[in-house]
Parts: sequence; structure tokens; C-alpha cells
Amino acid sequence: MNIILLGPPGAGKGTQARRLEVERDMIQLSTGDMLREARSSGTEMGERVAAIMDAGQLVTDEIVIGLIEEKLRGDRAGGFIFDGFPRTLAQADALSEILAKHDATLDAVVEMRVDDAALVERIVARSTCANCGEVYNDITKPIPDDGKCTNCGGTEFKRRADDNAEALTTRLMEYYKKTSPLIGYYYAKDQLRPVDGLGEIDAVAQSISAVLQETS
Ligand code: AMP
Repeated sequence: MNIILLGPPGAGKGTQARRLEVERDMIQLSTGDMLREARSSGTEMGERVAAIMDAGQLVTDEIVIGLIEEKLRGDRAGGFIFDGFPRTLAQADALSEILAKHDATLDAVVEMRVDDAALVERIVARSTCANCGEVYNDITKPIPDDGKCTNCGGTEFKRRADDNAEALTTRLMEYYKKTSPLIGYYYAKDQLRPVDGLGEIDAVAQSISAVLQETS
């Protein structure tokens, strides 16, 4: 089963994708993570996109489509979770072409609905484990008192360079201008499955499970 998690920054796509990986043996494909990796390993492409990412803008379709194409050639396990991709109509068209080329289908587009005030609150409070990427939130899921990651025991935590109020405004604007048209696009294809993304992590996970159950 291949699915897209669609929603604005801070909707909880990464958190839910990580759960689906564990529970359903699926593979999370986060273009944001791939781009951050390219930056930290100092590739030429990583250097080219750094300033764009820090400002909260979208990098070119060509770059992210290339990253996804490469990953789809590898192991497919229980299917892919597209997290943060597609973000434009051109990316959505490219994804259907790439999947068709691999004789694969897109089974559901899970739209994670949250309100803007909640997004800002979530994002400025967000940090991740530097070792395994587990996501924490100062309010809803604080780093444990012993300073150790609950997932891997790591002791270093980091905040993203683009998780600040200024970049967030741009990221939200990019979402509404370029990504939100995908809601209509997938609705018209009868693939859109909205879930309430505002609840507790477990409750949202259950809603997503119910959607995937219906689809399979
Ligand atoms: P994310 O981790 O998904 O929030 O992505 C972080 C940043 O990476 C975004 O603000 C963009 O600059 C870039 N990015 C990630 N995925 C895409 C995409 N599909 N298209 C364009 N830019 C992307």
C-alpha cells in the first residue's frame, strides 16, 4: 500500500509516518529529511538548497522529484508513505507517472486537518532527537527528565533552523499557495481521506488506521 500524508507544516505528518513504519512495515519517504541529509553531508545539491529551506520556501520540483525517483527504485517493503511530497501539482503529476512506471498504485491520500493557531504552537515548541529523529514537543511530549530519548536513549536534541516564526510564515504561505490545491486534485480523483489531525498522537494514529483499513 502506498499513501501520501498531506497537510501543512506541523500537522504531524512525520510523527505519524514513523508510527506507520513500525506498525505496518512501510517506508517513510520524507523529502524534507532527504534534503536535510544532503545538506549535512555537504553535497553540492545540499548546499544549493540550504538558503531556500532556511527561508521556508520550496525547492525546485526537479530536485525533489529526482530524490523520490531514486528511492522508488529500492526496497518497497509494505509500501511507501510519502511525507512532505508532493507539494505542488507538478510533483503530484510526476508521482503518478513514476508509480505507473513501477506498476504501483497510490492507495490513499490522508489529509491531516489542523488549524493554523495549533500549527504555530506546535512548530515553535518542536525538537527532535539528533540520533534517531524522534519528535518531541515542549508542551505535549517533552524530552524526559533524565534527558534521554525514549526511542534510542540519545542525549542530544536539536531544533530545526526553519522552525522559527519568520520562516514559518513563509512555509504556511507556500503551503496555501502551492500545496493546498492538491486537496482538490486528490478529491477529484476520489483518493482524498481527511482525518482530524488535532487530537492526541494515538487518536490521530487510530483515525489513519481506520482509513487504511477501509482502503485495503
Ligand atoms: P519538511 O521537513 O517536509 O517540512 O521540509 C522542509 C523544507 O524542505 C521545506 O520547507 C522545503 O524548503 C523543502 N522541501 C521538502 N519537501 C519538499 C517538496 N516536496 N517540494 C519542495 N520543497 C520541499
